[in-house]
Amino acid sequence: LGGSISRALQQMSNATVIDEKVLNECLNEITRALLQSDVQFKLVRDMQTNIKKIVNLEDLAAGHNKRRIIQNAIFNELCKMLDPGKPSFTPKKGKPSVVMFVGLQGSGKTTTCTKYAYYHQKKGWKPALVCADTFRAGAFDQLKQNATKAKIPFYGSYMESDPVKIAVEGVETFKKENCDLIIVDTSGRHKQEAALFEEMRQVAEATKPDLVVFVMDSSIGQAAFDQALAFKQSAAVGAVIVTKMDGHAKGGGALSAVAATKSPVIFIGTGEHMDEFEGFDVKAFVSRLLGMGDWSGFMDKIQEVVPKLDNQPELLQKLSEGTFTLRIMYEQFQNLLQMGPLSQLTSMLPGAELMPKGNDKESQAKIKRYMTMMDSMTNEELDSTNTKIITESRIVRIARGSGRLVREVMEMFEEYKRLAKIWSKMKGIKIPKKGGISPL
Ligand code: GDP
Ligand code: MG
Repeated sequence: LGGSISRALQQMSNATVIDEKVLNECLNEITRALLQSDVQFKLVRDMQTNIKKIVNLEDLAAGHNKRRIIQNAIFNELCKMLDPGKPSFTPKKGKPSVVMFVGLQGSGKTTTCTKYAYYHQKKGWKPALVCADTFRAGAFDQLKQNATKAKIPFYGSYMESDPVKIAVEGVETFKKENCDLIIVDTSGRHKQEAALFEEMRQVAEATKPDLVVFVMDSSIGQAAFDQALAFKQSAAVGAVIVTKMDGHAKGGGALSAVAATKSPVIFIGTGEHMDEFEGFDVKAFVSRLLGMGDWSGFMDKIQEVVPKLDNQPELLQKLSEGTFTLRIMYEQFQNLLQMGPLSQLTSMLPGAELMPKGNDKESQAKIKRYMTMMDSMTNEELDSTNTKIITESRIVRIARGSGRLVREVMEMFEEYKRLAKIWSKMKGIKIPKKGGISPL
């Protein structure tokens, strides 16, 4: 999804004249991408209509921020689609709440239950975990293991096969123990689908949860809408958590889950570990969906950082041109070694997680190694924006000159190409002489 949308926006930015035709082409492409992803047809159609209403063609013709206007409109529309208009029930510390987790097997329920408990425990809550998954062998052991690791009380049974009974016993036990967040983990599979939903209905009826959380895997396809709806019909889903956001999936299905359950996304899972759990940030999520990195965060950051770059006008100029040469990389590495302002900036950009951080010994050594190699490059090589100029024979020469391996030079060059790509996204950023900065 992100790729196609970026491509659509890219095509648009390449067009010299933006007229209705271009806007329509762009919208069609984004529509196809959203449909191909996990978003329901009606939602996509609504978005299309709204964008057309918002994007005034006369403004486009007159204004010079065409790309930005359309980009903003799409961005805002997707944000709106993720906002059901009312917040979910939020448990209060010190007041007992029951939160039931539902979702298909493998979606990450058990993991997310623990993360949710741990997250609150760190803030001084008294959470507890109840394992009401009696279907899958090993379910209780998994929860027990997680809970023990996080020092969170748990309840479950190897013998009892009635999930309703266990859920009720667990909730009552922890209410007596004055726990303020009682989390009920459930099964995600049954011999028959209907039985699973009936079980969810019964567990919900018996435990009367204050909140039912629908857990979905970010990579779930078109099934997102129906799946979320099916759970909503058996238990009153009031919130969504999207897991495995650390993978390749962009989580477009969240739009469908929000629409189907009329509930907001409250957290995302970003890894297998207990602390890989974050509050949901709609702007960051949509940025990622559009393949833009954390665009809003980046814009906030640039406001903060740009004044510090006042003494580097040429770098700022190049930033706005989107050109990235090996010499700029060299200068940036110098910055990184001093943890300069640019490193704060680039850390916000897409792909930044792969960037050497400059704050540990290993990456510092790597950066220094790269710089040594670049010291063996000619001015022509350092200042060129054409990546093809670095031929094989030049790589061999640079390796010999710097006393490094050919493989290492190639690696450095790959890094350069990757950063150049990131850098090109900054193209068009307007850098004012003094004061704030206006995006595009
Ligand atoms: P359940 O069947 O719904 O209870 O799912 P589990 O909690 O057992 O998780 C299924 C698998 O997904 C396990 O291997 C988890 O470690 C993994 N998992 C859960 N959440 C995340 C996440 O946010 N990121 C990654 N990478 N893996 C996750
Ligand atoms: Mg489970």
